[in-house]
Parts: sequence; structure tokens; C-alpha cells
Amino acid sequence: MKFIADIMVGKLARYMRMAGYDVMYINTASDDEIIKIARETDRIILTRDSLMLARREFKKGIIKYLYIKEDKLENQLDQIKLDLKVSLKPNLVRCIECNEKLIKVKKEDVKNKVPPYVYKTQKNFLYCKNCDKYYWRGTHYQNIKKAFLNMG
Ligand SMILES: [Zn+2]
Repeated sequence: MKFIADIMVGKLARYMRMAGYDVMYINTASDDEIIKIARETDRIILTRDSLMLARREFKKGIIKYLYIKEDKLENQLDQIKLDLKVSLKPNLVRCIECNEKLIKVKKEDVKNKVPPYVYKTQKNFLYCKNCDKYYWRGTHYQNIKKAFLNMG
């Protein structure tokens, strides 16, 4: 299951990435572009825009979409769980910033790229080649877990 989020659900997109889902989000994309990408890459559109849903592509059922009814993030996540019958658990496999799949990197390769304390205490590192950013289970994972727990 792959997704593309419209501009109104950018925060939801980040949280779904924290659970490992492939969620594209382009904050400059027009409705036309979002629809085009969804069709070409077989993505489900996540949208709060009822005007977009009035377009004929949606009426004809060509496009897969999920209309996000809720305004608050917690409720949006609940809706995702219910409507798509998925669980949302922290799963650090995607870059939270850009959706790129993270690559495992060797500890010795991150020596001067992460804080010394992190280097000393962590064994496994992941890397986003798009953002040139390193992830490790410690802090990032804890933050993700906390975020999901806070949602109830
Ligand atoms: Zn990234």
C-alpha cells in the first residue's frame, strides 16, 4: 500500500512514515499533479479536500483515495487504522522528512558524522541519501514511540 498526501495532511504523512509506510508528500503539488502521480504510481490519495473529490476522476473510480474526515492528527491516525485495517507501530525504515527508504550503514562509516556519544552507544545506523541524514534507533526510535503512545 502506497500513498500520496495532499497539502492539508502533511503532518499525517510524517506520522505514517514513522510507521514505515510509503507516503509521498509534495507541498507544492497541484491537485492535477497529485492525481497524475497517484495514477502513475498506484498510490492512494490521502486528502481533506472535498473539492478535489468532486472531480470526475474520483467519481469514475479511477483514483484510489481516502477522504480524511478528521481535523486532529490523533483522530486522523485512528481513521487510518480503522478504514485501512492497518496497525501503526513505529518502524524506522523510511526517512521521516522525505520518504526515502533508509539504507543500513556500517558503524565505522558514521564515525565523524554522528555525535560521539551516539557513536559510542549505538550499533546500528541508517542513512537517508536524499537528506544526507543519519538515523539510529536510540533517540529517533524513542521519539517515534512516544509520539505514537501520546496518540492513545
Ligand atoms: Zn530523507
